[in-house]
Amino acid sequence: MSEALPAPAVEPAVGLYVHVPFCHHRCTYCDFVLVPAREALLERYLAALEREAEELAPLLAGRPAVSLYVGGGTPSVLRPGQIDRLFALLRRHFAWLPEAEVTVEANPESLDAGRLEAFLRNGVNRLSLGVQAWQPELLRRLGRRHGPEEVRRAVALARQAGLANLSADLIFGLPGQSLEAWRESLEAVTGLGFEHLSAYALELEPATAFGRLHAAGRLPLPGEEEVAAMYRLAQRLLAGAGYRQVEISNWARPGFASRHNLLYWRTEEWLGLGPGAASRLGGAEWSDAGDVEAYLRALEAGQPPPREAGALDGLRAASDAVILGLRLREGVDLDAFRRRFGLPLEEAFPGATERALASGLAELRGGRLRLTEEGCFLANRVMVEFLPPAS
Ligand code: SF4
Repeated sequence: MSEALPAPAVEPAVGLYVHVPFCHHRCTYCDFVLVPAREALLERYLAALEREAEELAPLLAGRPAVSLYVGGGTPSVLRPGQIDRLFALLRRHFAWLPEAEVTVEANPESLDAGRLEAFLRNGVNRLSLGVQAWQPELLRRLGRRHGPEEVRRAVALARQAGLANLSADLIFGLPGQSLEAWRESLEAVTGLGFEHLSAYALELEPATAFGRLHAAGRLPLPGEEEVAAMYRLAQRLLAGAGYRQVEISNWARPGFASRHNLLYWRTEEWLGLGPGAASRLGGAEWSDAGDVEAYLRALEAGQPPPREAGALDGLRAASDAVILGLRLREGVDLDAFRRRFGLPLEEAFPGATERALASGLAELRGGRLRLTEEGCFLANRVMVEFLPPAS
């Protein structure tokens, strides 16, 4: 499995993330940091982002990024001229390798030839499409504004433009979703030839339309067994279609694992820009406070935007490395852990490995601790063993 992944860098690799906090409306399950995409706000955002880039650029001091990820929100709400400005301001302040993975997230209905051209002339080489489901009825429930036709059209446009690396996001465990409907969604995206797939179980966030319906007892969700069956179906069907499982929720054709996502799971380094972005750099981590208006006002006044710092002491960093490393099918390299943190995993988390192995949800293979195939769906039961004691 691991031979399909780019090898970890000897020096910590660094990536760049840009949060574009705009959507035309809010989907029923989404609690991301975002505001309605109004022209005046887009302009203020680009000016503020330039100031934040200027402030943070010295942290990378010309260190080239292995990946650039423009996420949202919906970056494809930007017009072609605004896309050019976004990349120009990034180029003024940061560097990325010529072979860097450059991803942009897009929604099928907002992607057109003009935007695609703008992405390509700015070096975008990977597109992540929010497909989510294949059935118009389910998409309506999710508050999505696209159907299967828009997905087909977006894929055809992207291929015509020359993009060779397309990723699709899917969600399972949706209200009213049957196992057969889930199969149909998986078969549709594999049939369209996506190189990479993310499939996440629905998470109910209290401050969403779904969260409120659930609290009122009006959201008919599939049972736990059915959701587990959907996950196993994804594992089987995608393996049969030539995808390798890279991580609990991510599958890729060989050579198409996301370099940027690997930064997160391998607890490497990244710098985030934008009102909902997080950063992990130089032994520290912080996130922008998630308030778009406060972000814009602070930067317009020449101040840094409000940020929250996390505590990243040794044990917390070690815990993150194991918990995120376990998400990867390659698992946690025990020698690398000892070299990085100065003690064996077993001493950092006494008894945890033994209990994880005894549960049958984890295994030791080739000097790595990793989840079993069954353990992927029940990963939290293993990860909880590796939380720092105070958690
Ligand atoms: S398009 Fe994506 S970011 Fe925007 S509201 Fe829907 S789920 Fe959230």
